[in-house]
Amino acid sequence: MLKDTILICEDERSISNFISTVLTTNGYEVLVTETGASAYTLITSRCPDLVLLDLGLPDMDGLDIIRAVREWSQMPIIVVSARMREKDKVEALDLGADDYIAKPFGTSELLARIRTALRHTRTRAENASIAQSGVFQTGELRIDYDKRLVFLRDEDVHLTQSEYKIVAMLGKSAGKVLTYDAILRELWGPGATRNNQILRVNMANIRRKIEENPAEPSYIFTEIGVGYRMADGE
Ligand code: CA
Repeated sequence: MLKDTILICEDERSISNFISTVLTTNGYEVLVTETGASAYTLITSRCPDLVLLDLGLPDMDGLDIIRAVREWSQMPIIVVSARMREKDKVEALDLGADDYIAKPFGTSELLARIRTALRHTRTRAENASIAQSGVFQTGELRIDYDKRLVFLRDEDVHLTQSEYKIVAMLGKSAGKVLTYDAILRELWGPGATRNNQILRVNMANIRRKIEENPAEPSYIFTEIGVGYRMADGE
């Protein structure tokens, strides 16, 4: 089987060594670079399947790499960064990064994010199993895209139209964070207000209907100051 190639762009040796070891032992081909300029060269010459990108690079801002790559490619980019401010996360995602992971992070978290990002590119953001079955399932939650209904333990949870649209959108990107802006734009159009209040009200109602304990959700997670993430599907 052809291995997926992952480019690690990280100037801290101890971190790039750690990531590189984890990825190699898990069957990935790895390319490592410490500067933004050489990362960009490798991206264009080697066309990796995924890029793990540190934002604080010695020669440039990682955000500029995302911006440049998104001019011509949808290859998955996961931002790996320390002390990420919410503003940086949102900016990276809005520029087209697929996800972010904050240092320090564990091996399983890193691998899960990579698998999700690779899968989303392959399926062009439309989850392949949803396209096939018309259904998304995670735990006891089921989204039936053909009937446009959401079930919890086989019972219709009676979402309103806008609640359904939010859950449906998150389900299609399960495992991946969607920013408040991205959800607002998708649901209420590009002219949508950037006021998240309407989204928060909808989410509170959704959680009341689908979560055992809305304060500690197990299906739709809040990424504070950034957006929402649906639990990975089965
Ligand atoms: Ca750095």
